[in-house]
Amino acid sequence: MIKLNEHYTEIGNNYLFAEVARRVKEYKTAQPEKQVISLGIGDVTQPIVPAVIEAIHKATDEMANAATLRGYAPYEGYDFLIQAILKHDFVDRGIDIAADEIFVSDGAKSDTGNIGDILGKENLVAVTDPAYPVYVDTNKMAGRNITLLPCTPANDFVPAFPEKPVDVIYLCYPNNPTGTVLTKLQLKKWVDYALEHQSLILFDAAYEAYISQPDVPHSIYEIPGAKKVAIEFRSFSKTAGFTGMRAGYTIVPKELTATTSKGETLSLNTMWLRRQSTKFNGTAYIVQRGAEAVYSSEGQKQIREVIQYYMENARIIKNGLEELGLTTYGGVNAPYIWTQTPNGQTSWEFFDLLLNQAQVVGTPGSGFGQSGEGFFRFTAFGNRENTIEAVRRIKNLF
Ligand code: PLP
Repeated sequence: MIKLNEHYTEIGNNYLFAEVARRVKEYKTAQPEKQVISLGIGDVTQPIVPAVIEAIHKATDEMANAATLRGYAPYEGYDFLIQAILKHDFVDRGIDIAADEIFVSDGAKSDTGNIGDILGKENLVAVTDPAYPVYVDTNKMAGRNITLLPCTPANDFVPAFPEKPVDVIYLCYPNNPTGTVLTKLQLKKWVDYALEHQSLILFDAAYEAYISQPDVPHSIYEIPGAKKVAIEFRSFSKTAGFTGMRAGYTIVPKELTATTSKGETLSLNTMWLRRQSTKFNGTAYIVQRGAEAVYSSEGQKQIREVIQYYMENARIIKNGLEELGLTTYGGVNAPYIWTQTPNGQTSWEFFDLLLNQAQVVGTPGSGFGQSGEGFFRFTAFGNRENTIEAVRRIKNLF
């Protein structure tokens, strides 16, 4: 008899976006003539920029020739991409990271989920609430205990330290789903907490490219001491439209260690390379050449234009909701707008109302955790026309 990993029975049956998709499909089947607009899942709609497309084409042509064919990629990524990441994301910002602390991957979802492979089951884990569902679900799958750190208007979406010290803390800034950020000083307090309690911060910076305000750190390593306590995750998905291409990277500083029950102290950098080389066979060469082109001067100029396009959508959504008297958060340093639902509706009640009466899809806040109940997330990743039309329809509802 096959025995199930029973921790899988502790996570809900449906990944949040699968449930959203199910309800939308049901509605579309019942009302095929209605045009549904999605400001729900955070997926990109604008084409990948020309500089990246050109690099992908060129890399594809190399695959057609035995002399330039590339087979398996290095587990940690090609050096050309690692050097581009290093220069642009760290050296140019005055951050000291070494090339062998960078691990290129197929995206931040895999890495934020897989990182638990190298961490003991007995670690106490703290997760901000609401949060990107991967943190809670993957830790439940592994059977770890989770402490939730509520982030609500009452604390200005700045998580308070847990009552009991924890070993691992997930922080995501700019935040999905609330769109809120931590200032340097606020993030420093968490780095200091981790230094004091010997905890590990798992810092998800997937939305780093959307930061527009000066006092918001782009990397946790801008904070002194962070290399001793933090792993950082980055993604090309929202930075450069790579949701379907799949590329990201993770920084595991060599200073980071963890102990065994025998009292040994081992390097997390070494263990992550061990994990990746065992379970992961590298990111496609073509995709890595595309990611490298993101850092070219043309690539940078072009991705900035796309990001500004999405952030103009964010402004349109935020202004529209505020004109209706709804309180909104985020949308300034992140492509997400988090709003309190009107008239005390639950998140799913508001979801059904918007779907049925305005044919607009958003994401119910409660799907991101219990502190998300009574909130709703809109994304700025639509095209302009749909975004304007969705806001118009929402306004007509009130
Ligand atoms: N981290 C956060 C906070 C996200 O919102 C997302 C995607 O929505 C990811 C990670 C996943 O990124 P990737 O597409 O690189 O797997």
